[in-house]
Amino acid sequence: MSDVQHQHIVTRFAPSPTGALHVGGARTALFAWAYARQQGASPGGGDGRFLLRIEDTDRARSSDAAAQSLMNDLRWLGINWDGEPVYQSERHAQGVYDAYVQQLLDAGRAYEDDGAVRFRMDRDVAFDDEVYGHIEVQKEQLEDFVIRKGDAGGRFPTFHLAVVIDDHDSGVTHVIRGQEHLTNTTKHVAIQDALGFDRPTYVHTPSIMNPDGSKMSKRDKAKAARKAAVDAQFDVNGLQPAGISADRVQAFIEKNNDDDDIADTIAHHLNVVLPEIDVRDFRASGYLPGALINYLSLLGWNPGDNVERFGRDFLVAHFSFKRLGKSNSRFDRDKLFRFNADDIAAMPPDNFAKTLHGHLAERHGDFADGLDDAQFAMFAKAYQPRARTLSEPVTLAAYLLVDDDAIAYDQKAVKKVLHKADGEGLRVLHEFADTLAAVDDWSPDTLEQTVKTFAESRELGLGKVAQPLRVALTGSTVSPSIGDTLSLVGRQRSMHRIELCLERNAIRA
Ligand code: GLU
Repeated sequence: MSDVQHQHIVTRFAPSPTGALHVGGARTALFAWAYARQQGASPGGGDGRFLLRIEDTDRARSSDAAAQSLMNDLRWLGINWDGEPVYQSERHAQGVYDAYVQQLLDAGRAYEDDGAVRFRMDRDVAFDDEVYGHIEVQKEQLEDFVIRKGDAGGRFPTFHLAVVIDDHDSGVTHVIRGQEHLTNTTKHVAIQDALGFDRPTYVHTPSIMNPDGSKMSKRDKAKAARKAAVDAQFDVNGLQPAGISADRVQAFIEKNNDDDDIADTIAHHLNVVLPEIDVRDFRASGYLPGALINYLSLLGWNPGDNVERFGRDFLVAHFSFKRLGKSNSRFDRDKLFRFNADDIAAMPPDNFAKTLHGHLAERHGDFADGLDDAQFAMFAKAYQPRARTLSEPVTLAAYLLVDDDAIAYDQKAVKKVLHKADGEGLRVLHEFADTLAAVDDWSPDTLEQTVKTFAESRELGLGKVAQPLRVALTGSTVSPSIGDTLSLVGRQRSMHRIELCLERNAIRA
């Protein structure tokens, strides 16, 4: 079942804190985590450890805010790491890398060049990768490369040196990372050999692509926002209130930067939805971590037996390198969306209400604050069967938050439901208002029953009463059951909305 080779498996995730956690990074972290946890979980197995290392040697591009947001996103996904995260900047400050650089210089395996230190690539290199197999590169195809920057670079180690030393010092047994690092691995094993380190097992995972075959990158969001801005002839001054200067917006539009914040802010202003790329995008759109984890696991890994839906425990129990494929996977948004919808539908109602409340409090505070506890419970119950993401109820139930006189009536619905047959719908609504005014118990069941009884007494189908009511209460013909809808809107507002609807949609001769 598992590829147990070492008693004490140590894996790690080593992101560079230069931006938010991309789904590709999350998938890599997930596999590394699952492999370590599998070793910890299997009876008689070792004590697998999963480490987190923040690779912040590129000082110009790294930030602590990005490191914090990466960690938040990992926690949200439930990918927990062992011990404290290691920061390469701290290890640099402790002189850890310099000691090894000196060792390489002394052994003649590296040399100084304009203040920088370069590693001498003067031998053929070969290594084995669990996914891509045996890889050999002749020395003629290799070039010396910088392992420590000069004074201008703060004498920081480059990624190549730091990654090798840190993996060694923390006892990493398996390096699991994206296949874009495959060519770097020749450099890494050359340094390992020169320092006399044991080699870890290498496991490179295939890339994640857009459905059109392009690499799924952070830039896709900027691209979409830029297109929306150009199409709408967006005023570059438009983001000044949000603290983004016209110069920066201009630079963004001219493709001089792909700043995520600018992309998000433009999208917000123009009310367009950008493709989700980073974990936090999916979170903001109301995806559940379990659905995302399940979906990401299937990118490059195949559990076999046509298994498709599973949770973390299954992944931990069954993950194996043997079932990792070499070919790149396409990111199928529709499939992820379906996973999410199914998971929402299957949640125990209490759990859904709690999760929805957490999401709304974080993203749509007006919604969470606008409903009292009893209303919220009703709202969650009414919308669970309709919500495919945690954000959808906000859009679907926008009518709950607007002022009564700001209800926008869908004109097609007005025509069909209120005006047809000489205003039959309006007449029914008018009559029903009197019945409704006499109801004391404003609970969904009583209200549902009241509508039914009224419809029966008039020998009308339920829809003939419920639809005009829906238009009056929500402006449209789509909402939860009529009892739920009336109850959610509340007694006073329902009566007021019916009155307004009759007035505003009256047929004028
Ligand atoms: N800091 C590298 C990255 O973000 C990590 C590479 C590795 O896992 O070794 O891609």
